[in-house]
Amino acid sequence: MPKSNAQQRVLIVGAGIAGLATAWWLERAGWDVLVVEKAPSFRAGGYMIDFFGPGHEVARRMGLLPALERRRAPISSVTSVDSAGRRRSEISTAAYEAVADGVISLLRGDLASVIRDDLRAEIRYGTTVSAIDDGRVTFSDGSADEFDLVVGADGVHSRVRELVFGSSFVRYLGHHVAAFSVHDPALSARIGYRYQMLTVPHRMIGCYAVRDGSMAALMLYRSASPELPADPATELRSRFGDLGWVAPSLLSVVPEDVYYDEVSQVDMPVWHRGKVVLVGDACGAVSLFAGHGASLAMTGACVLAEELAAGLDGAFDRYQARMKPAVEHTQEFGRRFIGWMAPSSAWRISLRDLAFRLSGLPVVRNLIRGSVMPDVDGVLTPAAPAGTAA
Ligand SMILES: Cc1cc2nc3c(=O)[nH]c(=O)nc-3n(C[C@H](O)[C@H](O)[C@H](O)COP(=O)(O)OP(=O)(O)OC[C@H]3O[C@@H](n4cnc5c(N)ncnc54)[C@H](O)[C@@H]3O)c2cc1C
Repeated sequence: MPKSNAQQRVLIVGAGIAGLATAWWLERAGWDVLVVEKAPSFRAGGYMIDFFGPGHEVARRMGLLPALERRRAPISSVTSVDSAGRRRSEISTAAYEAVADGVISLLRGDLASVIRDDLRAEIRYGTTVSAIDDGRVTFSDGSADEFDLVVGADGVHSRVRELVFGSSFVRYLGHHVAAFSVHDPALSARIGYRYQMLTVPHRMIGCYAVRDGSMAALMLYRSASPELPADPATELRSRFGDLGWVAPSLLSVVPEDVYYDEVSQVDMPVWHRGKVVLVGDACGAVSLFAGHGASLAMTGACVLAEELAAGLDGAFDRYQARMKPAVEHTQEFGRRFIGWMAPSSAWRISLRDLAFRLSGLPVVRNLIRGSVMPDVDGVLTPAAPAGTAA
């Protein structure tokens, strides 16, 4: 645990949602912040996320909501289609927003860039950590430095977690996922500003037009093994090539830097050791099935900063005590949601489509809300920490 003093030095490993948000809060709390990120440069685009819940409130406290709203994707509905592209069922955005109030759909890269643009901290790209001995860190370029606090915000496959805690703590959820966004005006116009998805047992493909002639796609399939293929694009073609609809077109534009990973959660008993603490997916990945990871990453950053400001002694324990129940609750919810997102049989797909069709009815809406919205109320303190924009 770091000693109390002015201008203490913090190293944040990972410039994703959790790392950038932690940098944002800690530099405003007076810390001297350095962020290292293994990617060679900032990664724009990526996959689409629905951003809501406590993270939305944290973004409000950071004064970032107007910038996020400007990047909101103009999606009008969520539509389930068959392999010929015919509509099977649809849920309107109005009904969807009634289920998930305040939801902002945007690219993960857009959320990250909005936080980054409001930061002064140095972000050192193309850099990672190769050894951590409490506050003493050796970087991938061979240099070493001393920090009062080391924050591991390096995602689900965290290197910091591996170096400091030694074990993987990853729970595989039986699926692989690929996601990408590309600029393709013709394909984008064909898809339109609707989230359209084609589901067959154990496989799902979804896409939507994003502004400026771009489109985003998500592919999800069941796989007994978490082992990743050497060539994701080839693997995707063999898994989804027979699906019809826009699948062949999507498969022909899979970019080289496609996001491809096993779907998994991180479950570990203690999130800190010595001067090292984890935030976001690194300690509590909930998976795309739960759909709240970015929101929880933002929230964890805010809660960590609040607890460090409240007193360094015991700050990590208090941070974990506030965040972990919400993370576990959301993880449990995510495991239940697999059946909604990747149904295992034709009749389950029909059942989900029926719920979509009836989603205009308040009673069904409440049922959907109960089954797709984890309860993470109470994680945030009612009052915003001092010095934040409203
Ligand atoms: C397809 C998909 C859909 C999703 N949909 C939603 C959604 O609708 N709503 C939602 O709230 N969440 C969603 N999520 C989850 C959300 O994206 C994550 O939970 C969130 O991004 C976690 O933030 P993070 O900063 O902890 O990790 P990440 O965003 O993964 O960032 C980690 C960063 O650390 C870097 N890094 C990794 N290893 C190292 C290293 N060794 N050294 C230095 N840097 C490193 C990475 O390059 C990356 O920049 C979705 C996830 C996926 C995959």
